[in-house]
Amino acid sequence: MIRVQRIKCGNGNCYVVSKGDSGILVDTGKKEYLDTVIEACKPYKIKLIVLTHAHFDHAENAVALSEILGAPIAMHKDDVNLIESNNNQSMLTKSFLGKVVLFASFIEFSKRKMNSFTPSVFLKDGDDLMEYGIAAKVIGLPGHTKGSIGIDVDEKDLIVGDALMNIFYPTVSLLYNDEKAMLDSARKITELGERAIYFGHGKPVKNRVWVKIH
Ligand SMILES: [Zn+2]
Ligand SMILES: [Zn+2]
Repeated sequence: MIRVQRIKCGNGNCYVVSKGDSGILVDTGKKEYLDTVIEACKPYKIKLIVLTHAHFDHAENAVALSEILGAPIAMHKDDVNLIESNNNQSMLTKSFLGKVVLFASFIEFSKRKMNSFTPSVFLKDGDDLMEYGIAAKVIGLPGHTKGSIGIDVDEKDLIVGDALMNIFYPTVSLLYNDEKAMLDSARKITELGERAIYFGHGKPVKNRVWVKIH
């Protein structure tokens, strides 16, 4: 039995995906929540730290947790330029709510400086995480950032990072580097069929039609 456990870190989420006493950690939270994440990981032998993308609210604790938990960091290579600065991939939005979130993010992106790291594992669409003890697959979900990925756990639970958001209500990503890619990724999620969707921000919901097809 595979378990997906949501770790609330302020307005964001990390997840421990576990089977028995071993697990993987998906995202790492802002530095203010390091202790919260350590506590949630304690019952498990964490074999891999996966970053859905390299925005600081998901990646800031990656280095510290990698040392403390003794687990390698895995992410998509197309987000490596965000480690140096989250401003290295521009963010766009159209909606009013998106502008509110974008304004807040921009201030944080400029202020926050992550400890630099080189990921030991690069993940891409279709990769299998079975070698880390969990029946899960990597789903490429570019658009929010170039290297955004999702983790499809046992074809039941899909952790989407910020490829979709539930900040105000469940929706496609309010912020994106590439709108067309982001919408294509949202369609790809719908096509996966029945899933519980676990967001980087907000409570989980059932999978649905995220983009009206015209
Ligand atoms: Zn993000
Ligand atoms: Zn985020």
